[in-house]
Amino acid sequence: MYKTSFTLKTSSYLELVDIQRQVDQAVSDCGIIDGICHVYNPHTTGAITINEGADPTVQTDIVMALEGMIPFSLDYRHMEGNSPSHVLASLFGTSETIFVENGQLLLGTWQKIYFCEFDGPRTRTVHVRVVAG
Ligand code: ZN
Repeated sequence: MYKTSFTLKTSSYLELVDIQRQVDQAVSDCGIIDGICHVYNPHTTGAITINEGADPTVQTDIVMALEGMIPFSLDYRHMEGNSPSHVLASLFGTSETIFVENGQLLLGTWQKIYFCEFDGPRTRTVHVRVVAG
């Protein structure tokens, strides 16, 4: 198994950050031709998702829709005051798994991997593991 991690700085409260280059680099560095790549977010107010990468307005629209979906005015009990961020993190999930074939991620033509910031701006860590097989 190949292990690597990287950090990134987010700049907004809600934001989708393109991490395709870093994950592609991990797959290139690992030397594994066929296997599984797991991209994992260790934060409780962040997530990993795969979505459209050709048109950046898609990420803007996702953020806009999320802002309208999760109410900030509920009687939340979590004292840190960021319950909407935790709700979004659970809705998206902590990780994505992508097949590796011929030394490359087997993504669709329009797909890219994103780190989802739901309580930024912060410095975040992403773990990548590639398993041969
Ligand atoms: Zn919290």
